[in-house]
Amino acid sequence: SKPGVAPLIELNDGHTIPSLGLGTWLGFTKEGTTAPVKDDSVQKAVELAIDVGYRHIDTAAIYSTEEQVGAAIKKKIAEGVVAREDLFITSKLWNDRHAPEAVVPALRESLARLQLDYLDLYLIHWPVGQFENGTFDLTDYAETWKGMIDAKNRGLVKSIGVSNFNITQLQRLLSMTPVKPAVLQVEVNFNLQQSQLIEFCKMQNIAVVGYTPFGSLFHSKAAPDAPPPRTDEQALLRIADKYHKSVAQVALRYLIELGVIPIPKSVTPKRIRDNIEVFDFQLKRQEREVMKTYDRNYRTIAVTMWKDSPYYPF
Ligand code: NDP
Repeated sequence: SKPGVAPLIELNDGHTIPSLGLGTWLGFTKEGTTAPVKDDSVQKAVELAIDVGYRHIDTAAIYSTEEQVGAAIKKKIAEGVVAREDLFITSKLWNDRHAPEAVVPALRESLARLQLDYLDLYLIHWPVGQFENGTFDLTDYAETWKGMIDAKNRGLVKSIGVSNFNITQLQRLLSMTPVKPAVLQVEVNFNLQQSQLIEFCKMQNIAVVGYTPFGSLFHSKAAPDAPPPRTDEQALLRIADKYHKSVAQVALRYLIELGVIPIPKSVTPKRIRDNIEVFDFQLKRQEREVMKTYDRNYRTIAVTMWKDSPYYPF
């Protein structure tokens, strides 16, 4: 495969999605809210990503990075580096817009921040609804989904999907709607390999996008109680050396071989370049078996503050 190019995967609605994307969430603060955007590092990251071949960018209303993603896209289209139709742009409906009639207006607000006239993918970010004051909005996600279908019918988005839904919630949604989600976005990494959920989605032809693809691989990010491996794991270093890749690249490659579309986030130029260079090698079965043993059903993104919602997925 060509360097810096992620092959396209066909979705169940006939559209295609690049098999790796760039994440743009700046992470949690110590207080558990999304970190504030302080500079233009996300815009710079998206510009470089497009230059080096990324065509799939993941953002969300709650990340406060849509403006920067939009500015970068506008610049790269103006420079002639890409055309709009070559890009795959995802955003997400926040928990406080679950009323069906709130979906299209929320999407229009995201489009305005992104300076776009359509999205490639819009996701219900969480099955859990909340009012602005944080109390639970008990709107059924199957009702919210009707607003998503309306957005698609209006041509504001090509594909619609969900994020952080469990198998039971997906099954229930599928039994209630004529429009299947094209994508499920969930956490997938060494410590949370999601084999049942991935198997279910394969059977239903729902593409799985994997968020937080590095999980707790980096010492700098791992919680004290997070299970191994870290980047100094001998077995991983040996495999990485063999392919002249980094442990981070091996971790992304493993997800691709599980059939998952990883969306690694970085604002660091060298890492942005490295993270897409994962389509020119293939792991051996034996190597995948080593990595399978790291599965612990351990979540890096836990959201236990929502555990009392009837729609809490975990
Ligand atoms: P990731 O697993 O992508 O890890 C990001 C961290 O890893 C950053 O600290 C980054 O540092 C560092 N990093 C990236 N590449 C490398 C590398 N090659 N070597 C060493 N360190 C590296 O975590 P995220 O939680 O950000 O998940 C990815 C994306 O998934 C998010 O940005 C967001 O778009 C999406 N997401 C969706 C959620 C949902 O509910 N649907 C929830 C969480 C995430 P630096 O940037 O400083 O280089």
